[in-house]
Amino acid sequence: MPDHIQRFIFDDADIRGELIQLEQSYLAALSKHQYSAPVAQLLGDFLCAAALLAQTIKFDGTLILQARSEGEIPLIMAEATSQGHVRGIARDADEAVSEDFQTLLKNGQLSITIDPAQGKRYQGIVPLDGNDLGECLEHYFSQSEQLSTRIILASDGQQAAGMLLQELPLSAEHGAQDRAQQWEHVTHLANTLSPQELLTLDFHTLLHRLYHQEQVRVFDPSALKFQCSCSQQRTEKAVQALGRKEAEALIAEAGEIAIHCEFCHHDYRFGSADLARIFETPLH
Ligand SMILES: [Zn+2]
Repeated sequence: MPDHIQRFIFDDADIRGELIQLEQSYLAALSKHQYSAPVAQLLGDFLCAAALLAQTIKFDGTLILQARSEGEIPLIMAEATSQGHVRGIARDADEAVSEDFQTLLKNGQLSITIDPAQGKRYQGIVPLDGNDLGECLEHYFSQSEQLSTRIILASDGQQAAGMLLQELPLSAEHGAQDRAQQWEHVTHLANTLSPQELLTLDFHTLLHRLYHQEQVRVFDPSALKFQCSCSQQRTEKAVQALGRKEAEALIAEAGEIAIHCEFCHHDYRFGSADLARIFETPLH
């Protein structure tokens, strides 16, 4: 089964959901680095969460979920694009061994950035106050969108999975009290799910196991894959942004400009001839 994400809604309640399971793209993100087990686990949670949020927002562009902290993991981030590409990284986390979320990300801040293909970037930041990433994101949504949200994530270094439940704006046919009860009911059932079930059950079985008494409408799944957004063109733009003088000075000093992508470990190298091309006039 390829990595995929699937939307569902409860026909009789203003509540929607998303399910995600990652294996190949998760393993691809891990394969470029030597992460300890807790870091690998948390990175799986970040990848799933970024893809779940990107799917929820429905936009054209990239969603970046990033945490900075004074704990054992100074920086961890994942990105998901509207095309279903995911990538992620943890930085300087070689010493991270704790099983405890708050030790790994002590005094942390979580930022959610939406970088649309067209238009302005949007960024929201919240303190990382919660016992896991899902809980922190639930706080984020209750503060910023005033929408009750439940996010359950599970990762084991081989597979990563997640479920998101979220209230939709109230429709005319349902009262607020109805919805509060439905929300209670739907999330209560979701809380009975074990991490193992979330990781291993196919979506059909999983939804049946939780919600066989509800009217659940399921949408077509979308595929997800690990794909880095770095490219020759983007990297040339970065060289261009240095300015010609600075770029020439770097080449004079080191013989080349080497730009390393820390997500996919691709090396981009530029020499004098490349500079001439990038800046469009010959070098002297
Ligand atoms: Zn890359």
